[in-house]
Amino acid sequence: MAWGGGGYGPGGGGFHGGPGAGTATGLPFEGIPPERQAGVDRILADEPDHAEPTVSFTHRPAPGSDRRLTLWMLLTRYPGRMAAAGLLVVVTALSAQAGPKLTGLAIDKGMLPGHHHMGTVVVIAGLYLLALVATALAQRSQVRVSGRLAAWVMNDLRVKIFTHLQRLSLDFYTEEKAGVIMSRMTSDIENLQQLLQDGLAQFAVQGLTMVVITAVLFTMNVRLALVTVVLVVPILTLMSMWFRRASEQGYDKVRDGIANVLSDLSESLHGVRVVAAHNRQRHNVVHHRNVVGRYRAANYYTAEINAIYGPGTQLLGILGQAVLLAIGGDMVVHHQLTLGTLVAFLLYLSRFFQPIQLLVQQYNLYQQGQASINKLRGLLDVQPSVTEVPGALELPPIKGSISFERVSFAYEPGLEVLHDVDILIRPGETVAFVGPTGAGKSTLAKLVTRFYDPTAGRVLIDQHDLRGVTLSSLRRQLGVVPQEPFLFAGAVRDNVAFARADASDAEVEQAVRAVGLDEVVDRLPLGLDTLVHERGQTLSSGERQLIALARAFLAQPRVLVLDEATSNLDLQSETRIEHALDVLLAGRTAILIAHRLSTARKADRIVVIDGGRVVEAGTHDELVTAGGRYAEMYDTWATQGAIGQGAGPEVAGNGLQR
Ligand code: ADP
Repeated sequence: MAWGGGGYGPGGGGFHGGPGAGTATGLPFEGIPPERQAGVDRILADEPDHAEPTVSFTHRPAPGSDRRLTLWMLLTRYPGRMAAAGLLVVVTALSAQAGPKLTGLAIDKGMLPGHHHMGTVVVIAGLYLLALVATALAQRSQVRVSGRLAAWVMNDLRVKIFTHLQRLSLDFYTEEKAGVIMSRMTSDIENLQQLLQDGLAQFAVQGLTMVVITAVLFTMNVRLALVTVVLVVPILTLMSMWFRRASEQGYDKVRDGIANVLSDLSESLHGVRVVAAHNRQRHNVVHHRNVVGRYRAANYYTAEINAIYGPGTQLLGILGQAVLLAIGGDMVVHHQLTLGTLVAFLLYLSRFFQPIQLLVQQYNLYQQGQASINKLRGLLDVQPSVTEVPGALELPPIKGSISFERVSFAYEPGLEVLHDVDILIRPGETVAFVGPTGAGKSTLAKLVTRFYDPTAGRVLIDQHDLRGVTLSSLRRQLGVVPQEPFLFAGAVRDNVAFARADASDAEVEQAVRAVGLDEVVDRLPLGLDTLVHERGQTLSSGERQLIALARAFLAQPRVLVLDEATSNLDLQSETRIEHALDVLLAGRTAILIAHRLSTARKADRIVVIDGGRVVEAGTHDELVTAGGRYAEMYDTWATQGAIGQGAGPEVAGNGLQR
């Protein structure tokens, strides 16, 4: 049930979030068909130049970001457009309400017995037409201006959030599911977009229309206006309050309903093999039928309340008109009111109800927008946990010694996973970390790249405490090769040059040759320009690793952190990767999280880690002679390895497993 549930937070209506929503890389671009090229050229010719903005990036909170996100703050960044939209809203609301007043005038001045005056009627009809045209024009501009305003505001907001996401530290990404972030960026932003695009302007127009109509009624005849207000407004207010509450509940249920339908669907799609293997199809259909049924019931409910409120207010309007006709008619007969004014009154009354209905019905939109703003504000309020201190040093070119000094670390307060670790790695040395799964090897590596800061103790590179240097100067000199390399959509060449976008083609090719990726590239249809699809799923895992190694080689970092892949490779890939590692590690300081003893054995030194502590350290020979944990592991491996394949079993699968 709970699959990706976080992606469909209440109020978010997350139709697009959920796991995997971010994996789509889209269709490959096939180029512009020749028959369309001329059109494209024409459009490009008068397209203004959108220069690449220069982004200065810091890992400190951006100055001025202490202002919390509100709709108002987003809008006031465009005061000109705001003012224009406001003005147009006023013009629309005023000009649209000229009609009834003009009709009344035409009756009084041109149609009544004794006042027959065709010329007046024609002039007033002309004015009516003018007012209509003015309304239409003002409306058109208003929709356009507020649409553009909304487009800019959404643009800013998207960039702001994306930039914020880039700045956040890694602890955020493990805690928060990708699905939730996706739903923030899709459904929440869409809610806001809807609200901004027509919601807000509509609210303003409708609200203003009500004020204008009320004012006009009072200027025409105070007594009749008072009667109208007393008659209609209290009942209408009560009905609207009821509807607002009921529909809020209704739409909450609808949102939860669709979220459940989608998560149930997603779960059964992801688990389709398990479902088939266990013959659970029937059960699933029954379950889905129930989930869909609850959604249907929620929709039923909202249809019901809409059916009461809409026709109900209409009925109220008609009743009001009937009463007004009686009272007003009496006033006309007694010459207290002109016929034209009565007609105008009746016409205005019918127009009075529409804005209220619209306002109440769109209140939902406003609420959703507000809920979305609140959620986005929560996201923007998350501060990076790894920050640069003010006045952080640029790390000078390093020699590459790394030391952990009495380092302790906890991901969650109170749950320490590293205890008092002391390790010294000399420049140019390759140190393998070995130990069972969950021992803390990757955590140690993450402290070197400063994805996290130690809870106690220090991590130093060349005697510089990592907390005192800028993140960019540190990471520029570090290379990281993760266990499962991530390939981005684009050419193989771009993926190799990922860490150094300015690298020349010759440099890329040199890196490719150095790690032995050239044999692989030669077999690809377009060589280095072959596009990587779906995060490299069309490449074998060995090929992906080679690309990652070439990427690290090109960056030429002084210090390398390598997480050895656990996936089993065929012997040929294995050899190729071992060769690439030899090339890559030569002359660099390296931390190698080793999952195979065959790799660990080749390191200059081996550090055995278990339960967040260093258990022993030394060269392969020293440790074997010492007869400790490593020797025990090695024994198991050597005896089994003689039977099994050359690569031998994984460390984690043996000896040290708790
Ligand atoms: P290894 O690399 O040796 O397999 P790790 O360094 O990944 O071990 O993990 C060490 C311990 O920290 C484990 O108990 C693991 O469950 C915990 N851990 C790892 N990552 C996180 C995280 N992001 N949040 C909380 N605990 C974590």
